[in-house]
Amino acid sequence: MFKKILIANRGEIACRVAATARRMAIRTVAVYSDADAHANHVRACDESVYLGGSAPKDSYLRWQKILEAAKATGAQAVHPGYGFLSENEEFAQACADAGLVFIGPPPSAIKAMGLKAESKQLMEKADVPLVPGYHGSDQDPTLLQREADRIGYPVLIKASAGGGGKGMRVVEKAGDFASALASCQREAINSFGDDAVLIEKYVQRPRHIEIQVFGDTHGNYVYLFERDCSVQRRHQKVLEEAPAPGMTETMRKQMGEAAVAAARAVNYVGAGTVEFIVEQRVDGSMNFFFMEMNTRLQVEHPVTEAITGLDLVEWQLRVASGEALPLAQDQLQIHGHAIEARICAENPDNNFLPATGTLHVYRKPQATAFQRSRVRIDDGVREGGVISPFYDSMIAKLIVHGATRGEALARLDAALAQTHIVGVATNVQFLRGILRTDSFANAKLDTALIERERAVLFDQEALGLPLAAAASIAKTLLDEAATSSADPFSRRDGWQSHGVALRPFAFEFRGEPQAVELSYLHDGTLMLQVGEVSGPLVIGRFPTGELEVEFNGQRHTLDVYQDQDTACVFAAHGATKIVAVDRLAHAGDVQAEGGRLTAPMPGKVVSFSVRAGDKVSRGQPLAVMEAMKMEHTIAAPADGTVEELLYMPGDQVTEGAELLRIAA
Ligand code: ADP
Ligand code: ADP
Ligand code: MG
Repeated sequence: MFKKILIANRGEIACRVAATARRMAIRTVAVYSDADAHANHVRACDESVYLGGSAPKDSYLRWQKILEAAKATGAQAVHPGYGFLSENEEFAQACADAGLVFIGPPPSAIKAMGLKAESKQLMEKADVPLVPGYHGSDQDPTLLQREADRIGYPVLIKASAGGGGKGMRVVEKAGDFASALASCQREAINSFGDDAVLIEKYVQRPRHIEIQVFGDTHGNYVYLFERDCSVQRRHQKVLEEAPAPGMTETMRKQMGEAAVAAARAVNYVGAGTVEFIVEQRVDGSMNFFFMEMNTRLQVEHPVTEAITGLDLVEWQLRVASGEALPLAQDQLQIHGHAIEARICAENPDNNFLPATGTLHVYRKPQATAFQRSRVRIDDGVREGGVISPFYDSMIAKLIVHGATRGEALARLDAALAQTHIVGVATNVQFLRGILRTDSFANAKLDTALIERERAVLFDQEALGLPLAAAASIAKTLLDEAATSSADPFSRRDGWQSHGVALRPFAFEFRGEPQAVELSYLHDGTLMLQVGEVSGPLVIGRFPTGELEVEFNGQRHTLDVYQDQDTACVFAAHGATKIVAVDRLAHAGDVQAEGGRLTAPMPGKVVSFSVRAGDKVSRGQPLAVMEAMKMEHTIAAPADGTVEELLYMPGDQVTEGAELLRIAA
């Protein structure tokens, strides 16, 4: 076994690899960028080497520098994690050339699976079932159109070099094909430097079911069963679970064997995942088709660890050091059910726009033990840390295990309720919303689940104004009481004393101004009026810090965090935010953005679709920005003429930076 390895990654996966290495008494070397100088993964390792600037191309993608770091520290092997260099065959080859073990498959296997089109040609030869489609090298647009017509609409155009859901376009009818092709090619060239595409039949309401495989250098292969990753937004996974609901033993064996055949066809070594798209028939039967193979450890590997009781990173290290696979197929078993939720810095109500900021509050559920534990948290951040625009938006993964799916689901909901994040928008409440949908709760899974449940998901009022206002006021009063020695209720400005003392509060809740009035009766009772709702307010604080708030006939135990003017309220059944408005300070506050067009978030300018002098109309796309692996189109707010472009494609811009100027 290795004595020392270098982990060529950051964030949760670097911490996760370091944890297993530590358990196996293997020393670890971290690498880091400017933005990560104090990151958890640096602390998690025994040594660390600085790589360069925050942008991945200046740090985590600089493989020459990473190889030098490995040499300088005496590391014998390199673990690439996922993303970054993990699927780069040149890097894998360069490791070998430098006398280092790449903890992953041989470069030839990465290359063979790297392009979706080529890998499909290989899979066809290995008798792995494929989605009907075209994956040839001839990219003549008329030929592509003809192939799409032959396959039959709807079809899906994919970037052959693609990943992360990028570049994919669904085409509903022949007339839309040409423009969808052009737009896919454009995104493909920008993102992957390669505009080759393939066309597939678009499977309706499919499930994404993937198989974890492992190979060793002695020619042994096993499959570690399946994961269902159907719950997706933007073709990216949100919730993953194992085993897949409704999977029969026969189909599990067929898919497992097809996945092993795929791995064998490219002489695969180490951990890999074969992704299948699964068609659901009306009669309940399922057809599976090969989609792609990811030649690395997958983000969602912990659900497999939970149901098998294995440590897949340990397996990777054993295989990479030349050992045979620890177990054979007939020694592998599924225990219970596991679900993973990806907690991301993003705003589900605003088209999942990634968010950045400081984690003022980051409280997580109590974890128990490790692989087979009932609640596991894999993360690479801590309270006070920053979610920067340079890397992807995943903050943490919450993995739960239970004897049944129902048990795991309940446990996940409880764990999400205990996940309190303030300072950065997250999808935590959205995830809880998904768990409560009829589709997810009853395992009616397919990739359109979020879209189908839209009405329920995007109109959730788990925690309404009365409780939010009561919580914010309780927090204010209790904090005042704690910091002032005199009776806090007698000395406040704005209080009147005509029999009762009145204290007005002004809030903003879900974008709407709200006036709320608190009165203080002589007998010490607090009376609260929130719109139509009024009644006594009873408040208290537990020694552990939670507030007890009783209002409107209900009593709640709440965690309330004050983030400047905003009270972030967490209850067992949901969470919300309410802003205390200082009416004087905001009186003359009008939005006067005029013709300025600003970056909604820090990121990179990808392209402008207009030039100075162009006339534009309201809603017309003007520029494309990229941040945290997503593209955002900036549209004209009104009709006008473009005066000036203030950046060039490729420029990094900060949030609020003015991108171009438009005159009315
Ligand atoms: P998984 O199948 O493991 O969930 P994802 O597609 O979510 O894989 O990607 C896993 C990681 O790989 C991402 O978090 C990101 O770091 C990296 N990645 C994948 N595709 C891309 C891409 N197109 N551009 C940049 N990074 C990518
Ligand atoms: P990526 O490399 O970006 O992960 P994949 O080929 O793995 O691309 O596809 C990503 C997702 O897109 C899948 O999980 C699935 O939701 C959807 N998808 C892919 N192929 C098809 C298809 N032929 N029909 C319907 N949906 C598909
Ligand atoms: Mg994929």
